[in-house]
Amino acid sequence: MMKRQPFIRTDWLERNARYWPDRPALTWVPEGTCWTFAQLHAEGEALAAVLAARFGLQKGDRVAILAENRPEHVLLFVACQKAGWILVPLNYRLAAPELAYQVSDSAPALLVYDAPYTGVVQRLGAVALLPLETIRTFARSGATLKSRPAIALDDPLMILYTSGTTGRPKGALITHGMIAWNAFNTIHRLDLTSRDVSFNAAPFYHTGGWNVLLTPFLFKGGHTYLLDRFDPEQILRLCDEAGVTILWGVPTMLRMLADHPRFEQTSFRTIRYAIVGGEAMPEPLIRRWHQKGVPIRQGFGMTEVGVNCFSLPEDDALRKIGSIGFPNFYIEARIVDETGREVGVDEVGELLMRGPVVTPGYWQRPEATAEAIDAEGWFHTGDLVRRDAEGYFYVVGRKKDMYISGGENVYPAEIEAVLRAHPDVADAAVVGVPDPKWGETGAAFVVPKPGRTLTAEAVQRYCRSQLAGYKVPRHVFFLEALPLGPTGKCDKQALRERARNLISR
Ligand code: ATP
Ligand code: MG
Repeated sequence: MMKRQPFIRTDWLERNARYWPDRPALTWVPEGTCWTFAQLHAEGEALAAVLAARFGLQKGDRVAILAENRPEHVLLFVACQKAGWILVPLNYRLAAPELAYQVSDSAPALLVYDAPYTGVVQRLGAVALLPLETIRTFARSGATLKSRPAIALDDPLMILYTSGTTGRPKGALITHGMIAWNAFNTIHRLDLTSRDVSFNAAPFYHTGGWNVLLTPFLFKGGHTYLLDRFDPEQILRLCDEAGVTILWGVPTMLRMLADHPRFEQTSFRTIRYAIVGGEAMPEPLIRRWHQKGVPIRQGFGMTEVGVNCFSLPEDDALRKIGSIGFPNFYIEARIVDETGREVGVDEVGELLMRGPVVTPGYWQRPEATAEAIDAEGWFHTGDLVRRDAEGYFYVVGRKKDMYISGGENVYPAEIEAVLRAHPDVADAAVVGVPDPKWGETGAAFVVPKPGRTLTAEAVQRYCRSQLAGYKVPRHVFFLEALPLGPTGKCDKQALRERARNLISR
């Protein structure tokens, strides 16, 4: 019998441009400019043709972009999809030396930059530079590609750097196939239709900007409103005026929306549900959204496996608080202990994942790749999780954050959740620090709510009433705000260092 090759279209936008040429695909909110599917497809093609001719780019070459969220990111994405180049969206919030690292790591053949970065790009190493404004001119040239490279599902389409929460950001390879399978997963689990409307306000240097909804929406034929940044006022207005059907963000964003004066007057009448990821959504916040008739779906994911690995059905939002639900359709998951044995109900272990949405590895980091992906193709996430008797998964913390106090495993996320529930606490983070008696102990960094004062003793007393003694942080420090990493997550490395310094004083 003839062996069939697996087939999935890598240039799916070309099909969508035929199915619904005149439907809106992308609206750039700051200008009110809209691209239909036919326009986006044609402009991406023209852009690819001009860039190929001008810069002699070959399949596999990297094309980097340094800009806040712009529609040019999407045009370049389409061009890369057609020409087989690898898009590298650089993190514009990084300092020059950090940027220089990402540029020398990814070695782009072309770097597209926006005006505010004119100075810095000159210092990033010798690559061809192109100002952002030229992108739209090229895209409107009507040019067509002279030669079309054969593109396979396993060919890389992007390098996305991880958040760098546990070390230096790693460039995860994102293939054409991963984007497609992530779209299938999302469309299947979230019931996406070609009539859905959403917005994107998450930065394009992060997987969230691409994979949560933008690429699944382009894949399915939905309409995305693109914003240059997260602006609660504008998003709340869009919700009602543009008929947004799916809302998404990390819990902090949903809190900022709920705290905005416009929240009460927003009807959310077209919203089907909100997707939350990145961390667990606290119960009071879930209830505030429920009062507005917005169901909440908790999600879970990561750069290397796509953002839609797990999801909690909306009907379980309150019954299973803190749970990330089950693996999505095209993904397998296991929880294993240090020896690789599968753990039992409610036992904590490392989450492993396998399937077509998993990265083939990190860009030019064979050791990191070998460490993360085993011979059977399981990706070792570094996340500690447990599964309850009904099969629901819960994130317990990160392997690198866990510390051992007097022989007991302590998961900072558990203590942080307790601290955040205190009425005078705005935010909190806990790290493990060396301790002469217990081996390690906890240091808590607490941000009091404005106008409230707290003492270390009061915080510890409160913790003792909620937690086992070995979990109570022996050190409590107060901060006005937690230090954040480039994707807005708490920078625990910085806190560990600060705690060590404060304790040794
Ligand atoms: P690095 O890999 O560079 O240390 P990072 O892991 O923070 O950084 P991302 O890929 O942006 O980079 O984040 C994925 C991680 O975020 C997951 O591995 C997990 O630890 C955490 N995460 C994502 N969703 C949730 C969630 N719903 N609940 C708890 N943690 C989550
Ligand atoms: Mg990670």
